[in-house]
Amino acid sequence: RAKANGKGQAVEYDPELDRERIRVAELEGLLKNAIGSGAIEAAFQPLVSASTGAVTGLEALARWKTATGNVSPEIFIPLAERCGLIDALGVHMLRTSIGHAKSWPGLTLSVNVSPIQLCNPEFAAQVIAILQELDFDPNRLTLEITEGVLMTNPDQARRSIDQLKRVGIKFALDDFGCGYASIGALRQFGFDRMKIDRSLVSALDVTTNGADILRATISLATALQIPVTAEGIENSRQAAILRDAGCDQLQGYMLGKPMSACDISNRLREESAA
Ligand code: C2E
Ligand code: MG
Ligand code: MG
Ligand code: MG
Repeated sequence: RAKANGKGQAVEYDPELDRERIRVAELEGLLKNAIGSGAIEAAFQPLVSASTGAVTGLEALARWKTATGNVSPEIFIPLAERCGLIDALGVHMLRTSIGHAKSWPGLTLSVNVSPIQLCNPEFAAQVIAILQELDFDPNRLTLEITEGVLMTNPDQARRSIDQLKRVGIKFALDDFGCGYASIGALRQFGFDRMKIDRSLVSALDVTTNGADILRATISLATALQIPVTAEGIENSRQAAILRDAGCDQLQGYMLGKPMSACDISNRLREESAA
């Protein structure tokens, strides 16, 4: 039952740890099947013009519905990254979201990309091949990446970004302000857009200097001619502050929750009728 370790002390066997390992292994198996069978779907959240309120783009967000409920991407994306499934999941998300976006001409499509994908030397060629195969204009595609990869593998990240930018694909730095990414990194890596993290936006409701920090951040990006999206807008006060601070694009539950492709099509139809 107990096993001796190097120091000659008894280490208790922990059955809970084994159960945890089994649960993770089961979840991995389920995720693998879900990717293969197309059970992972894309939801789409509107990106709205701060000046006109019109939908100008959509962000694809992965959704996994299982028989026992939905699994959050906050759970299954890190799982996919750990168990080597993120490349397959990423390719699947690109294909399905582009497939839907083809019926929304004139709108941009943003797809989240894991740092692990960006560090794969094959990644850029894969994306370009998918765009050609599906006949989708690269200028309509934005890849959203978080800062982590810029620190851990800056050389490969830059190679992938450069290769994809050459064909017209845009890059957005996601979740800006919740980590260590600097304004300098925006220019160094050639980002086309910055997305202010939701935590900074929600802080507007509780702190007094939150607005000053946001205004300073946004004006620095604007000085570098990098447009800014604010994510996680939930009320009109937040929207007004961020619009006045210079964000040209807003995203959040107030402007539209992530929806099925069908619901997006309906919303776009209503908008163009109005
Ligand atoms: P993200 O890319 O920063 O996406 C924004 C997240 O905030 C989404 O959560 C969205 O549903 C949520 N959100 C948007 N507006 C609001 C709001 O007004 N209030 C609140 N409370 N939340 C809001 P979601 O869909 O759970 O995704 C979480 C994260 O998982 C994403 O953060 C992204 O980092 C990752 N993710 C999602 N889909 C994919 C994917 O296909 N590939 C990769 N690599 N990552 C993905
Ligand atoms: Mg994103
Ligand atoms: Mg984000
Ligand atoms: Mg996020």
